[in-house]
Amino acid sequence: MSGLRNGRIASTAYKALSTQSPFVASVSRAGAVSHREPAAPEDASPLSVLPAGALCRSLFTNTVSSTPWLLSPAIYFLSHLCQPRRPLLFDVQRNRPLAWLMKQTVYKQFCGGETPAETKQTMRRMRDMGFRGTIITLATETVFDYRKNLVHGLGVEAGAGEGAATCPAIASWRKRTLGAVELLEEGDQLAIKYDSIPPYLPGKMLTEPRITGAGPLVTDALAAGEPLPQQMLDALDEISARCKAQQARILIDAESQLYQFGILEVGLDLMRKYNRDGHAVIYNTYQAYLKSTPASVAGHLAAALEGDFTLGLKLVRGAYLATDKRSLIHDTKQDTDAAYDAIALGALRQDLFGFGGVEKHEEARRPFPSVNLFLASHNKESVVAAHELHRQRSEQGLPTVPVGFAQLQGMSDALSFGLLRLGGAPEVYKCTTWGSLAECLGYLARRASENRDAASRTSDEFAALRAEARRRVGRLLRLQG
Ligand SMILES: Cc1cc2nc3c(=O)[nH]c(=O)nc-3n(C[C@H](O)[C@H](O)[C@H](O)COP(=O)(O)OP(=O)(O)OC[C@H]3O[C@@H](n4cnc5c(N)ncnc54)[C@H](O)[C@@H]3O)c2cc1C
Repeated sequence: MSGLRNGRIASTAYKALSTQSPFVASVSRAGAVSHREPAAPEDASPLSVLPAGALCRSLFTNTVSSTPWLLSPAIYFLSHLCQPRRPLLFDVQRNRPLAWLMKQTVYKQFCGGETPAETKQTMRRMRDMGFRGTIITLATETVFDYRKNLVHGLGVEAGAGEGAATCPAIASWRKRTLGAVELLEEGDQLAIKYDSIPPYLPGKMLTEPRITGAGPLVTDALAAGEPLPQQMLDALDEISARCKAQQARILIDAESQLYQFGILEVGLDLMRKYNRDGHAVIYNTYQAYLKSTPASVAGHLAAALEGDFTLGLKLVRGAYLATDKRSLIHDTKQDTDAAYDAIALGALRQDLFGFGGVEKHEEARRPFPSVNLFLASHNKESVVAAHELHRQRSEQGLPTVPVGFAQLQGMSDALSFGLLRLGGAPEVYKCTTWGSLAECLGYLARRASENRDAASRTSDEFAALRAEARRRVGRLLRLQG
């Protein structure tokens, strides 16, 4: 597999990524509403479509994340802002100048908006830049830290209502999630999580459990592998039906291992009901870094085949390396990379875990079920190889599956815009988190620490941003000269 990562598929596509015009994407996406102008010249970098304000913000955040002596204090500062009972100076709800500064810099770089109107504006901007749509997610979060046996809550405070017939936390989750559904327009998607987003505020984990999201009745049931409370099942049903009616998809986030097996089962039940028209409305997220993921995917391929529904397969590497049980996770990054590529490319070839692959394998195999693939990653090798394989197979009339790509807002823009330039009608999305500045602080702190863990990727991104800034300044000077 590693041969493939560095092989012909990837190198051909890399070339395409850096030479094609952004106009290609808008031409190739039949039927999609696009307000994007083919403004960039043929030889411009993929980042040429980035508005000036966004380019400046990206330069600022990338300068910080590519400079270790700036990044460490920035992470410390952000994690400090997340602490409960912080002094006025560090409280974004009381210190207005601080809130303004944060909003204009890191918040706007990584988050969608504090209000529905602001978020909708961001989503329109994404569409104008050529993305198929935006994946929106709420900024409520609770994290189970396996090593400390603690629940860490960041963001929204919500009543737990443990034991109540109607749980206020579930009611609040339902209301806020339905509010998010109202923001969706053609091409947009909803990401849902029952409780947590990835953890990791280095050295600064919260020590006080605060319950947020759908609350403890839901997380307890998920952790115990028991059925969810009826109130939550009804809420999921209502949200799924609403999204299906709006032709939007629901991507169910993968979370800490403690909850993940339960989450996968709930997602599979929803797929049985809603993924019946030849395409996926509901997607489960599969974490390639888990040693158990091949078995989970194989089991769900079998369920889709037997139940005659489409498997919505969103693939990520996994975000809980710092807090989940290490023995459950592949021993090295290379193993995780290989696992990710094996599932992505196997699904695209319709040859995975004993399903499909009839061109190649002589023995009687099980047919490949209906699968819709969604690759959420910032890893250029994985994304480009998958895109190129899908393009080749589509051109040669070989069996493959529909595929979408997604990166987080404010991250890996060169990759996202580069994908838009490639042929083969790529469905490219940006994923954004929305909520008040205070609610998004935990998310922002994690973005900062994730950037530190991906030093080579951020330095590539920084180089591309600097080159684009130089190109624009040069053009300005030439125009004036
Ligand atoms: C749109 C989008 C949605 C996402 N949704 C989810 C979600 O629902 N649930 C979730 O858990 N994550 C989610 N993620 C985050 C994702 O799991 C990764 O943490 C993140 O994208 C970095 O991985 P990468 O594929 O971009 O590539 P890279 O930056 O190349 O890979 C980094 C990843 O490799 C793995 N890794 C690093 N070191 C090691 C090691 N020593 N041993 C084994 N593995 C290692 C880890 O998974 C790490 O995150 C999402 C990401 C995106 C872009």
